[in-house]
Amino acid sequence: MGLSERQQDLLRRIPGVDLLLERAKRERGFDGVPRSVLVRSVREVVETLRASILGGDGGSEHSLMEAVLLDAVSDRVDREMAFNLKRVVNATGVVIHTNLGRSLLPQAAVDNVVALSGRYSNLEFDLDAGRRGSRYSAIEDILCEVSGAEAGMAVNNNAGAVLLTLETLARGRKVIVSRGELVEIGGAFRIPDVMARSGGILVEVGTTNRTHLRDYEAAIDAETALLLKVHKSNYSVVGFTAEAPLADLTALGKKHGLRVMEDLGSGMFIDFSRYGLTREPTVQDSVAAGADVVTFSGDKLLGGPQAGLIVGKKDVLDEIKKNPITRALRIDKMTLAALESTLRLYRDPERAVATIPTLKALTMAYEELRQRAERLADGLASLPGDRLTVDCLDLSSRVGGGSLPLQELPSRCVGVRMSGLSANAVESAMRANCPPVIGRIEEDRFIMDPRTLQEDEFAMIRDAFQRIAEALEKE
Ligand SMILES: *Cc1c(COP(=O)(O)O)cnc(C)c1O
Repeated sequence: MGLSERQQDLLRRIPGVDLLLERAKRERGFDGVPRSVLVRSVREVVETLRASILGGDGGSEHSLMEAVLLDAVSDRVDREMAFNLKRVVNATGVVIHTNLGRSLLPQAAVDNVVALSGRYSNLEFDLDAGRRGSRYSAIEDILCEVSGAEAGMAVNNNAGAVLLTLETLARGRKVIVSRGELVEIGGAFRIPDVMARSGGILVEVGTTNRTHLRDYEAAIDAETALLLKVHKSNYSVVGFTAEAPLADLTALGKKHGLRVMEDLGSGMFIDFSRYGLTREPTVQDSVAAGADVVTFSGDKLLGGPQAGLIVGKKDVLDEIKKNPITRALRIDKMTLAALESTLRLYRDPERAVATIPTLKALTMAYEELRQRAERLADGLASLPGDRLTVDCLDLSSRVGGGSLPLQELPSRCVGVRMSGLSANAVESAMRANCPPVIGRIEEDRFIMDPRTLQEDEFAMIRDAFQRIAEALEKE
């Protein structure tokens, strides 16, 4: 095979898997590590070593040292034992960051999930009657109380809520929608495609920028089942525009005996204009305008768990609850526990804004952001060494989650430059940290926005920079 004598010698000296396994257990413990994981890790280390001796670099004396081999085993074990789904620090300033898990649950919701998920509950058991109950009764009363609707339920997510509602009310029949509202949101959710899958027949009316009530009326015929309004949650049409208000559509529906549905996307119960933000229609507005059914997300502006909420008239909700597809979209007990406690916080809007992390972050005052930025910057500036240049800058946060696309959220951010590393290299080193710190690059700096940071994360960021700086010194 043409191996050199040196290679043959190194190959002979590779410890056997069993021997290395025994040394690994004796020297490093690995308590709590399943044997299968440890054996696989040892085997991989031995195979990698063999390949490196046979390959281009020919291996080295150093790579055969026991401590080096055991370190390699430890690395592999650590990697295998770490969860794939793990906590990250969101320093992006994007509050409802779909890639980072959207809304953080309020503490009351976390506590309720913990209390209920490790125990039995009355999930589908009527405690008064002593027999089978409905999974949806846990949240229906509170959902009706805060929205003003007659009936309500929750499914897996809003995409599911829209699909289920269309399938129930319009399968094989026509649904009239404005051309200006045929939206696509992230993750390939497009109204025309969802409509097709639901079996509803899409009838587009109006134009991209202007749709009038008379356009809907002209399209109504004997096969029409539903008038659908989709909230423009992630974009805006400006300039010469017109749309039919929901109240006009519900009046038209009543006149022709047709139901009216609104997909609100990011449903909310609080009028944000009281906090200096853009006024968005609330769920209560849609219910009061007479919509027969309204769908919205649980984890966008509502700030709760992933869920699709459906509220509206009792007869409509009764039909939806009977649809067998409901079972395929059913919501888990952990979600229900989180949802019930989140919804209850809305009984007191002030308390909701103070305790629901999404709302708290969105309404955070500039002065608080300034103080938080300063605290973060001071912590970084006090690190030993002189690699870091730390500045506070006036930049913007974003709402995210396809909500309030035009909302300006002025923020005070911290920008870091690190001598010896490009901004891109800082970004990837922070992303490789444990826990990963996700920021953004702007003005040639690594930018962190304190709006989305939690209290314990200021110290984590400082530690991350300290580790990166120490690694650079060692090079
Ligand atoms: C976000 C959104 C959806 C989908 O909601 P998910 O909870 O992400 O499934 C549907 N319609 C509109 C208008 C949205 O903004």
